Amino acid sequence: MSCMTEYKMMYDVAVVGAGPSGSTAARCCAEAGLSTILIEEHAAIGYPIQCAGLLSSAAFESCGVTRRCIQHTLTGATVYPSAGEPLCLDAGVPKAFAVDRGMLDREMTAMAVSAGAELMLKQYARSFHQGVLDTIGASGACRIGAKIVIAADGVRSPIARSLGLDSPIQILSGIQADIRHASNEGIVEIYPHASPDFFGWLIPIGGGRARIGLLGRDRVRERFVAFLHRFYRRHNTLTAIVTGALPLGARERTYADRVMLVGDAAGLAKPTSGGGVYTGVRSAMHAADVAVRCCELDRFDASSLEIYEKRWKDDFGRELKLGMQLLEVRQSLREEEIDRAISVLKEPELVRAILEAGDMDRPSRLILTLMRHPGIYQLAGLAFMSGLRRFTDVLSPGFGRFP
Ligand SMILES: Cc1cc2nc3c(=O)[nH]c(=O)nc-3n(C[C@H](O)[C@H](O)[C@H](O)COP(=O)(O)OP(=O)(O)OC[C@H]3O[C@@H](n4cnc5c(N)ncnc54)[C@H](O)[C@@H]3O)c2cc1C
Repeated sequence: MSCMTEYKMMYDVAVVGAGPSGSTAARCCAEAGLSTILIEEHAAIGYPIQCAGLLSSAAFESCGVTRRCIQHTLTGATVYPSAGEPLCLDAGVPKAFAVDRGMLDREMTAMAVSAGAELMLKQYARSFHQGVLDTIGASGACRIGAKIVIAADGVRSPIARSLGLDSPIQILSGIQADIRHASNEGIVEIYPHASPDFFGWLIPIGGGRARIGLLGRDRVRERFVAFLHRFYRRHNTLTAIVTGALPLGARERTYADRVMLVGDAAGLAKPTSGGGVYTGVRSAMHAADVAVRCCELDRFDASSLEIYEKRWKDDFGRELKLGMQLLEVRQSLREEEIDRAISVLKEPELVRAILEAGDMDRPSRLILTLMRHPGIYQLAGLAFMSGLRRFTDVLSPGFGRFP
């Protein structure tokens, strides 16, 4: 599509942002026969990368990409306290993958284009008002008419801002780099003390290398440098340095007249792991379904799109709410409390329970299992425990009595 100055063209759906959420939304809309345009501000897809590339098996499957995107298969995690023995959680079978996020994004966009979506690169969407998307970029100033906009424009979401929608509850900053790493085992390492607001990670990616990084609210660079020193040896090469922001805690409203916000634009990343690809892709599928229905009914007002928010909330809203409560508890714990929690969770029966019920994308089942386990009450007195009490609201009716 070329439009050197002002150009107007009508689409059923304009999707802003060709990350995993946007490409999924565009693919699903095009597959359903809607005329769809996918607009991306960068000249290339999958760049810059702002992700550790850790996806559960379910998240990977939901992306629909080829196994070429997998760099390494992961079977478990080890959680390191500030002192003492770590907590080892190895399922011994594939649970997650380290993926090449750039390749994943490119394959997902290619699938959207194959399904019939039109791709417009190097074009920035500034705002959307009264059915017209105002864009600027390599194609000049384009005004694109769309019955519906699916805003998949990431954490900054210019579309949400142009509509005056409020922001996600917390925005964390992250830094990450690839380093040489001797072990090629498929075990992710988690370091809660690397960042008191979240955690630090080491993810083996095969080929004798690993990604190390952390997310946090403040002093992120300083904390990353300190964390890096733990691993960094002379003659080690630091490559693929990544910085990025992660929105946590969904926006109060994720729809408006003719607009639905998906993925990071809506603040849908998981507060427990920082993963946003799975929920982004799921939300995009719900948004595309609703877009198809609204086009059939020829109704695009906010009340017709409200069902989109209900759909994603029914799907994983409870997980996000619980995740935010867990994050609040985590952020209130002192270093020694974290160490104590790790040492309690090392009890063999609890390890077994974690391995059986643990699910990176849906933590509620694990929390329910742990809360029913007598061993967990050794944590009584910790801030962790007072936090657990609050989870009953979110987990009911699945949960019975809590002492
Ligand atoms: C350090 C870090 C590590 C992470 N690690 C993981 C992980 O291991 N696993 C995981 O699942 N998640 C991880 N995440 C989160 C994950 O990267 C995001 O949740 C995910 O990328 C969200 O996908 P999205 O498509 O919603 O948004 P994005 O991937 O951010 O895509 C948005 C797209 O919109 C484009 N865009 C933005 N504004 C405009 C505009 N106005 N016009 C046109 N185009 C626009 C952008 O260029 C971009 O391509 C991590 C995040 C950070 C910061």
